[in-house]
Amino acid sequence: MSMNLLEQAQEKLRSIYGYHSFREGQLNIIQLVLQGKDTIGIMPTGGGKSLCYQVPALVNPGVTLVISPLISLMKDQVDALMELNIPATYLNSTLSVEEERKRQTKIREGEYKLIYVAPERLDQMQFKQLINSVNISLVAIDEAHCMSQWGHDFRPSYLSITSWLQELKQSPTVLALTATATEQVCQDLQEYLQINKEQVVKTGFERANLTFKVRKGINKKQFINTYISKKNKDSGIIYASTRKEVEQIYQQLKEQGLDVAAYHGGMSEVERSRSQEAFIHDEIKIIVATNAFGMGIDKSNVRYVLHYNIPRTIEAYYQEAGRAGRDGEESECILLFSPQDVRTQTFLIEQSNRNETRQEMEYKKLQQMTALCHTERCLQQYILHYFGDDTDKTCGKCSNCLQTGEKIDKTKEAQMVFSTVKRTRERFGKTIIAQILVGSNNQKIKQMNLTTTTTYGLLSHLSQKNVAEFIDLLLAEGYLLLVGTSYPTIQLTEKAIQVLLGEQHVFVMETMTEVEPDQQDD
Ligand code: ADP
Repeated sequence: MSMNLLEQAQEKLRSIYGYHSFREGQLNIIQLVLQGKDTIGIMPTGGGKSLCYQVPALVNPGVTLVISPLISLMKDQVDALMELNIPATYLNSTLSVEEERKRQTKIREGEYKLIYVAPERLDQMQFKQLINSVNISLVAIDEAHCMSQWGHDFRPSYLSITSWLQELKQSPTVLALTATATEQVCQDLQEYLQINKEQVVKTGFERANLTFKVRKGINKKQFINTYISKKNKDSGIIYASTRKEVEQIYQQLKEQGLDVAAYHGGMSEVERSRSQEAFIHDEIKIIVATNAFGMGIDKSNVRYVLHYNIPRTIEAYYQEAGRAGRDGEESECILLFSPQDVRTQTFLIEQSNRNETRQEMEYKKLQQMTALCHTERCLQQYILHYFGDDTDKTCGKCSNCLQTGEKIDKTKEAQMVFSTVKRTRERFGKTIIAQILVGSNNQKIKQMNLTTTTTYGLLSHLSQKNVAEFIDLLLAEGYLLLVGTSYPTIQLTEKAIQVLLGEQHVFVMETMTEVEPDQQDD
């Protein structure tokens, strides 16, 4: 490629955006795109994906079409571009017939460098004609993981993108962008878009300015009150899983006299957009929302993201938590864990009318997310490992890195758990295994004759809850595996066998992270 194009890209970065240098990944992606190579760009939330198509849009001769699932945000994105004097527009169902016609005429006249559309529009005959009447240099697919059934946010309308591209009477360069870094999603994208490995650019997923914290066994409502009152000058997002919970938290904070807005699917579009705008423009500090909120929102000064309930996947968690600290300033991501929430999510998966393979995948992802809450390893590192980055660096500031206490040898106890699992032939789940070990008199245990298991009562000095937590930790650390869906049973992994054979030891942090007295469960 002529240096010229790249120099032009650098020049646009400086003169239009006022940035000195490209961030990790941006230059690579832009280089490939300007060479006319179809590319997949995988960067964490806040990594700077938009620039990867906006800069080429300014350098390329033709138009850049941006496919985005976010009708509610197109206006903001286009407004932001116009502020930079970049001619851009969007077409979506919110426009009047007259306005749409006006924009179409301008598109034909080549007035815009960027056009945003939702995937639903691609199949409209009129749109196909419109697009074929102009020179499209680049098609950018934003939130491209929506194309993959293995993604956490699959959207059927995204599936038609592939055939649409094939039917197009011109062959623009294609750039797919996502923050979902799992191998399966990446493979799907490569296959759908026929992109080979050399054209996949994946940056590191570390977000060094984020501090991750998991809080267990606390009174969540009280925690929020205390936490928010300390953070009342900062912008933050509180995620809850249900509309009902969003409303409750919203009311609770409102009663405290805080500037807060709610956002969930049960609200009208006008109400939702009012909440979103108020939050983005700093008129209110706190937004309490379901996961319907946030995709594509570029608010740089979010100082904390608090998860009131466990999300369903690590992908979703990291994306939501990643909305904190886009400006690079120190920010917190706090997850409030309660086992009940895992049960609720399991129930919701069960109730969904998805096919069996899909449900199993969702259970597995939920288990991995749960394991993140139970691990004693560095949380940032754990997440990075999940995304395939084998770093051995720890963040030094997450709730696990800051855990005080000594590592003590729990090999014996672990062996007791493993042999209980083995002796009961891997037929039971966590509760039964814990009940056997504490020597429970439960009817079920007696009926199934489990009182005769040789390990029965060996951990009677501990509570069933303690043992269950210990099992959770062993699951998180990969000694045990949960198998099955509605009644998951525990199996041993190779790692557990080594412990049983005495070839490996299990160390556990003696004390949990100290919780402040006002956060204790009552
Ligand atoms: P993503 O879509 O990957 O979540 P964005 O494209 O919204 O992230 O970018 C996140 C923030 O980083 C934005 O505020 C953007 O202006 C800023 N940004 C992007 N690239 C650069 C850069 N090269 N230098 C400085 N800031 C950047």
